[in-house]
Amino acid sequence: MKIQAIGVVGAGVMGIGVAQNLAQTGHQVILVDISEDILDKAKQEIRNNIRFQGFFQKSDKTETPDSVLNKIEFSTNYKFLENVDFLVENVTEKWDIKREVYPLIDSICPADCVFAANTSAIPITRIASVSKRADKIVGIHFMNPVPMKPMVEMIRGYHTSEATIETAKQMLTQMGKECIIVNDSPGFVSNRVLMLTINEAVFLLQEQVATAEDVDKIFKSCFGHKMGPLETADLIGLDTILFSIEVLYENFNDSKYRPCPLLKKMVDAGLHGKKSGKGFYVYQ
Ligand code: NAD
Repeated sequence: MKIQAIGVVGAGVMGIGVAQNLAQTGHQVILVDISEDILDKAKQEIRNNIRFQGFFQKSDKTETPDSVLNKIEFSTNYKFLENVDFLVENVTEKWDIKREVYPLIDSICPADCVFAANTSAIPITRIASVSKRADKIVGIHFMNPVPMKPMVEMIRGYHTSEATIETAKQMLTQMGKECIIVNDSPGFVSNRVLMLTINEAVFLLQEQVATAEDVDKIFKSCFGHKMGPLETADLIGLDTILFSIEVLYENFNDSKYRPCPLLKKMVDAGLHGKKSGKGFYVYQ
Protein backbone atom coordinates (compact mmCIF):
# COMPACT_ATOMS: atom_id res chain seq x y z
CA MET A 1 0.00 0.00 0.00
CA LYS A 2 1.33 3.42 -0.93
CA ILE A 3 2.34 5.73 1.89
CA GLN A 4 0.28 8.82 1.01
CA ALA A 5 0.24 11.64 3.55
CA ILE A 6 3.65 12.80 4.72
CA GLY A 7 4.50 15.35 7.39
CA VAL A 8 7.63 17.42 6.87
CA VAL A 9 8.78 19.41 9.90
CA GLY A 10 11.22 22.26 9.28
CA ALA A 11 11.09 24.28 6.06
CA GLY A 12 14.73 25.27 5.69
CA VAL A 13 17.21 24.11 3.05
CA MET A 14 16.36 20.41 3.56
CA GLY A 15 12.66 20.62 4.45
CA ILE A 16 12.01 22.57 1.25
CA GLY A 17 13.81 19.94 -0.83
CA VAL A 18 12.10 17.00 0.91
CA ALA A 19 8.63 18.57 0.58
CA GLN A 20 9.21 19.40 -3.09
CA ASN A 21 10.54 15.91 -3.89
CA LEU A 22 7.58 14.28 -2.11
CA ALA A 23 5.02 16.47 -3.92
CA GLN A 24 6.70 15.78 -7.26
CA THR A 25 6.36 12.05 -6.64
CA GLY A 26 2.62 12.27 -5.95
CA HIS A 27 2.43 12.54 -2.15
CA GLN A 28 0.24 14.83 -0.06
CA VAL A 29 2.59 16.88 2.10
CA ILE A 30 2.08 18.94 5.24
CA LEU A 31 5.05 21.25 5.73
CA VAL A 32 5.37 22.78 9.20
CA ASP A 33 7.69 25.51 10.43
CA ILE A 34 7.61 28.11 13.19
CA SER A 35 6.70 31.26 11.23
CA GLU A 36 4.55 32.30 8.27
CA ASP A 37 7.49 34.27 6.85
CA ILE A 38 9.62 31.12 6.66
CA LEU A 39 6.76 29.21 5.01
CA ASP A 40 6.21 32.01 2.45
CA LYS A 41 9.91 31.88 1.62
CA ALA A 42 9.72 28.09 1.28
CA LYS A 43 6.77 28.41 -1.11
CA GLN A 44 8.68 30.90 -3.25
CA GLU A 45 11.77 28.74 -3.25
CA ILE A 46 9.84 25.67 -4.41
CA ARG A 47 8.24 27.77 -7.16
CA ASN A 48 11.70 28.92 -8.32
CA ASN A 49 13.12 25.39 -8.14
CA ILE A 50 10.35 23.94 -10.33
CA ARG A 51 10.81 26.72 -12.90
CA PHE A 52 14.57 26.15 -12.88
CA GLN A 53 14.14 22.37 -13.28
CA GLY A 54 11.78 23.02 -16.20
CA PHE A 55 14.57 24.87 -18.04
CA PHE A 56 17.15 22.13 -17.62
CA GLN A 57 15.26 18.85 -17.55
CA LYS A 58 12.79 17.15 -19.80
CA SER A 59 10.52 16.85 -16.78
CA ASP A 60 6.83 16.01 -16.86
CA LYS A 61 5.25 18.65 -19.13
CA THR A 62 2.07 18.72 -17.02
CA GLU A 63 4.07 19.67 -13.92
CA THR A 64 3.88 23.35 -13.03
CA PRO A 65 4.85 25.21 -9.87
CA ASP A 66 1.14 25.35 -8.98
CA SER A 67 0.54 21.64 -9.56
CA VAL A 68 3.42 20.85 -7.17
CA LEU A 69 2.47 23.50 -4.59
CA ASN A 70 -1.16 22.27 -4.60
CA LYS A 71 0.09 19.03 -3.03
CA ILE A 72 1.72 20.87 -0.12
CA GLU A 73 -0.12 22.34 2.81
CA PHE A 74 1.99 24.98 4.60
CA SER A 75 1.30 25.53 8.28
CA THR A 76 2.71 26.71 11.58
CA ASN A 77 0.23 24.43 13.36
CA TYR A 78 1.52 20.97 14.30
CA LYS A 79 -2.12 19.81 14.65
CA PHE A 80 -2.25 19.35 10.88
CA LEU A 81 0.11 16.40 11.33
CA GLU A 82 -2.53 14.33 13.12
CA ASN A 83 -3.27 12.06 10.13
CA VAL A 84 0.12 11.63 8.47
CA ASP A 85 1.40 8.15 7.57
CA PHE A 86 5.11 9.08 7.73
CA LEU A 87 7.05 12.10 8.98
CA VAL A 88 10.42 13.57 8.03
CA GLU A 89 11.91 15.90 10.68
CA ASN A 90 14.33 18.52 9.31
CA VAL A 91 14.58 21.15 12.05
CA THR A 92 17.78 23.03 12.94
CA GLU A 93 20.81 20.87 13.83
CA LYS A 94 20.65 21.77 17.53
CA TRP A 95 19.87 19.18 20.16
CA ASP A 96 17.87 21.66 22.26
CA ILE A 97 15.59 22.30 19.27
CA LYS A 98 15.24 18.69 18.07
CA ARG A 99 14.57 17.35 21.58
CA GLU A 100 11.47 19.57 21.88
CA VAL A 101 9.99 18.39 18.58
CA TYR A 102 9.74 14.64 19.24
CA PRO A 103 7.47 14.68 22.32
CA LEU A 104 5.21 17.09 20.40
CA ILE A 105 4.90 14.96 17.25
CA ASP A 106 4.55 11.86 19.46
CA SER A 107 1.45 13.38 21.01
CA ILE A 108 -0.08 14.45 17.68
CA CYS A 109 0.80 11.87 14.99
CA PRO A 110 -0.85 8.42 14.72
CA ALA A 111 0.76 5.77 16.94
CA ASP A 112 2.00 3.75 13.95
CA CYS A 113 3.59 6.72 12.12
CA VAL A 114 7.32 6.33 11.46
CA PHE A 115 9.53 9.35 12.16
CA ALA A 116 12.59 9.83 9.96
CA ALA A 117 15.16 12.17 11.48
CA ASN A 118 17.05 14.08 8.83
CA THR A 119 20.12 15.10 10.78
CA SER A 120 23.75 15.69 9.87
CA ALA A 121 25.34 14.30 13.00
CA ILE A 122 23.00 13.83 15.99
CA PRO A 123 22.82 10.13 16.93
CA ILE A 124 19.46 8.53 16.10
CA THR A 125 19.48 6.61 19.39
CA ARG A 126 19.71 9.93 21.23
CA ILE A 127 16.79 11.34 19.26
CA ALA A 128 14.78 8.17 19.97
CA SER A 129 15.44 8.62 23.72
CA VAL A 130 13.08 11.62 23.86
CA SER A 131 10.30 9.80 21.98
CA LYS A 132 7.82 7.16 23.14
CA ARG A 133 8.23 5.23 19.87
CA ALA A 134 11.96 4.51 19.74
CA ASP A 135 11.40 1.48 17.48
CA LYS A 136 9.72 3.71 14.88
CA ILE A 137 12.55 6.22 14.63
CA VAL A 138 15.09 5.92 11.85
CA GLY A 139 17.72 8.27 10.48
CA ILE A 140 17.40 9.34 6.87
CA HIS A 141 20.28 11.57 5.97
CA PHE A 142 19.10 13.12 2.72
CA MET A 143 21.64 14.70 0.40
CA ASN A 144 21.36 18.31 -0.76
CA PRO A 145 19.70 19.36 -3.09
CA VAL A 146 17.19 16.65 -2.21
CA PRO A 147 15.23 16.41 -5.50
CA MET A 148 18.48 15.88 -7.46
CA LYS A 149 20.16 13.31 -5.22
CA PRO A 150 19.06 9.69 -5.70
CA MET A 151 20.99 8.20 -2.75
CA VAL A 152 20.60 8.68 0.99
CA GLU A 153 22.36 7.33 4.07
CA MET A 154 19.88 5.47 6.28
CA ILE A 155 20.77 5.07 9.95
CA ARG A 156 19.62 2.24 12.16
CA GLY A 157 19.27 3.45 15.76
CA TYR A 158 19.67 1.07 18.71
CA HIS A 159 15.90 0.44 18.93
CA THR A 160 14.94 0.89 15.24
CA SER A 161 12.84 -2.12 14.19
CA GLU A 162 13.16 -4.03 10.91
CA ALA A 163 9.56 -3.04 10.12
CA THR A 164 10.56 0.64 10.42
CA ILE A 165 13.55 0.11 8.12
CA GLU A 166 11.23 -1.53 5.56
CA THR A 167 8.70 1.32 5.77
CA ALA A 168 11.48 3.89 5.34
CA LYS A 169 12.84 1.98 2.33
CA GLN A 170 9.38 1.93 0.78
CA MET A 171 9.07 5.68 1.35
CA LEU A 172 12.39 6.23 -0.38
CA THR A 173 11.43 4.02 -3.31
CA GLN A 174 8.26 6.08 -3.71
CA MET A 175 10.49 9.19 -3.81
CA GLY A 176 12.71 7.58 -6.46
CA LYS A 177 15.62 7.06 -4.08
CA GLU A 178 17.86 4.29 -2.82
CA CYS A 179 19.69 4.00 0.47
CA ILE A 180 22.85 2.72 2.08
CA ILE A 181 22.14 1.50 5.62
CA VAL A 182 24.67 2.11 8.39
CA ASN A 183 24.65 1.65 12.15
CA ASP A 184 24.24 4.60 14.48
CA SER A 185 27.26 6.74 15.38
CA PRO A 186 27.59 10.56 15.62
CA GLY A 187 27.95 11.96 12.08
CA PHE A 188 27.30 8.44 10.70
CA VAL A 189 29.74 7.67 7.85
CA SER A 190 29.29 10.69 5.57
CA ASN A 191 29.54 13.56 8.00
CA ARG A 192 32.14 12.09 10.34
CA VAL A 193 34.46 12.37 7.35
CA LEU A 194 33.00 15.38 5.54
CA MET A 195 32.70 17.73 8.55
CA LEU A 196 36.34 17.16 9.51
CA THR A 197 37.39 17.79 5.91
CA ILE A 198 35.42 21.03 5.72
CA ASN A 199 36.64 22.20 9.13
CA GLU A 200 40.25 21.51 8.13
CA ALA A 201 39.72 23.38 4.84
CA VAL A 202 38.55 26.40 6.88
CA PHE A 203 41.72 26.15 9.02
CA LEU A 204 43.77 26.23 5.79
CA LEU A 205 41.97 29.39 4.75
CA GLN A 206 42.39 30.94 8.22
CA GLU A 207 46.13 30.19 8.11
CA GLN A 208 46.31 31.73 4.61
CA VAL A 209 47.82 28.59 3.15
CA ALA A 210 45.59 29.04 0.10
CA THR A 211 42.60 31.04 -1.09
CA ALA A 212 39.10 29.52 -0.96
CA GLU A 213 39.17 29.18 -4.76
CA ASP A 214 42.48 27.30 -4.70
CA VAL A 215 41.45 25.00 -1.83
CA ASP A 216 38.37 23.99 -3.85
CA LYS A 217 40.27 23.80 -7.14
CA ILE A 218 42.69 21.23 -5.67
CA PHE A 219 39.80 18.91 -4.82
CA LYS A 220 38.11 19.42 -8.19
CA SER A 221 41.13 19.36 -10.50
CA CYS A 222 43.33 16.89 -8.64
CA PHE A 223 40.76 14.51 -7.14
CA GLY A 224 37.95 14.92 -9.66
CA HIS A 225 35.41 15.97 -7.01
CA LYS A 226 32.42 17.86 -8.40
CA MET A 227 32.70 20.48 -5.66
CA GLY A 228 35.46 21.53 -3.26
CA PRO A 229 34.96 21.45 0.54
CA LEU A 230 34.33 25.19 0.89
CA GLU A 231 31.76 25.25 -1.93
CA THR A 232 30.12 22.25 -0.27
CA ALA A 233 30.08 24.12 3.04
CA ASP A 234 28.33 27.08 1.40
CA LEU A 235 25.72 24.75 -0.11
CA ILE A 236 25.04 23.00 3.21
CA GLY A 237 24.99 26.22 5.29
CA LEU A 238 27.87 27.33 7.53
CA ASP A 239 25.59 27.38 10.59
CA THR A 240 24.65 23.73 9.95
CA ILE A 241 28.37 22.87 9.50
CA LEU A 242 29.24 24.55 12.81
CA PHE A 243 26.36 22.86 14.69
CA SER A 244 27.34 19.47 13.21
CA ILE A 245 31.01 19.74 14.13
CA GLU A 246 29.94 20.83 17.63
CA VAL A 247 27.76 17.70 17.86
CA LEU A 248 30.78 15.57 16.89
CA TYR A 249 32.96 17.40 19.44
CA GLU A 250 30.40 16.90 22.23
CA ASN A 251 29.76 13.26 21.40
CA PHE A 252 33.33 12.02 20.95
CA ASN A 253 35.00 14.44 23.41
CA ASP A 254 37.87 14.49 20.95
CA SER A 255 39.72 17.72 20.19
CA LYS A 256 40.08 16.77 16.53
CA TYR A 257 36.48 17.97 16.15
CA ARG A 258 37.07 21.47 17.59
CA PRO A 259 35.46 23.99 15.25
CA CYS A 260 37.77 26.39 13.43
CA PRO A 261 37.52 29.95 14.91
CA LEU A 262 37.07 31.39 11.41
CA LEU A 263 34.00 29.17 10.91
CA LYS A 264 32.54 30.46 14.20
CA LYS A 265 33.29 34.05 13.25
CA MET A 266 31.61 33.68 9.85
CA VAL A 267 28.48 32.19 11.43
CA ASP A 268 28.37 35.04 14.00
CA ALA A 269 28.70 37.52 11.13
CA GLY A 270 25.67 36.01 9.39
CA LEU A 271 27.72 34.54 6.54
CA HIS A 272 25.76 31.29 6.34
CA GLY A 273 26.63 30.42 2.73
CA LYS A 274 24.32 30.17 -0.25
CA LYS A 275 21.11 30.52 1.80
CA SER A 276 22.20 33.91 3.20
CA GLY A 277 23.79 35.14 -0.05
CA LYS A 278 27.37 35.03 1.24
CA GLY A 279 29.77 32.50 2.71
CA PHE A 280 33.17 31.63 1.29
CA TYR A 281 31.71 32.88 -2.01
CA VAL A 282 29.08 35.50 -2.92
CA TYR A 283 25.71 34.46 -4.41
CA GLN A 284 23.23 36.66 -6.32
P1 NAD B 1 17.98 25.23 8.08
O1 NAD B 1 18.62 26.04 9.14
O2 NAD B 1 18.05 25.69 6.66
O3 NAD B 1 16.43 24.98 8.42
C1 NAD B 1 15.96 24.54 9.66
C2 NAD B 1 14.49 24.92 9.76
O4 NAD B 1 13.94 24.35 10.97
C3 NAD B 1 14.29 26.45 9.86
O5 NAD B 1 13.39 26.88 8.85
C4 NAD B 1 13.69 26.63 11.25
O6 NAD B 1 12.77 27.70 11.34
C5 NAD B 1 12.99 25.29 11.45
N1 NAD B 1 12.66 25.00 12.84
C6 NAD B 1 13.40 25.28 13.95
N2 NAD B 1 12.71 24.86 15.05
C7 NAD B 1 11.54 24.32 14.61
C8 NAD B 1 10.44 23.74 15.25
N3 NAD B 1 10.39 23.61 16.58
N4 NAD B 1 9.39 23.29 14.51
C9 NAD B 1 9.42 23.44 13.15
N5 NAD B 1 10.45 23.97 12.49
C10 NAD B 1 11.50 24.41 13.20
O7 NAD B 1 18.63 23.77 8.22
P2 NAD B 1 18.70 22.62 7.11
O8 NAD B 1 19.95 22.78 6.34
O9 NAD B 1 17.40 22.53 6.40
O10 NAD B 1 18.90 21.36 8.05
C11 NAD B 1 17.81 20.70 8.66
C12 NAD B 1 18.30 19.36 9.20
O11 NAD B 1 18.79 18.58 8.10
C13 NAD B 1 19.46 19.53 10.19
O12 NAD B 1 19.38 18.57 11.18
C14 NAD B 1 20.68 19.31 9.28
O13 NAD B 1 21.79 18.86 10.00
C15 NAD B 1 20.15 18.24 8.35
N6 NAD B 1 20.83 18.16 7.04
C16 NAD B 1 21.24 19.29 6.39
C17 NAD B 1 21.84 19.17 5.14
C18 NAD B 1 22.27 20.40 4.34
O14 NAD B 1 22.96 20.23 3.32
N7 NAD B 1 21.89 21.60 4.74
C19 NAD B 1 22.03 17.90 4.56
C20 NAD B 1 21.56 16.78 5.25
C21 NAD B 1 20.96 16.91 6.50
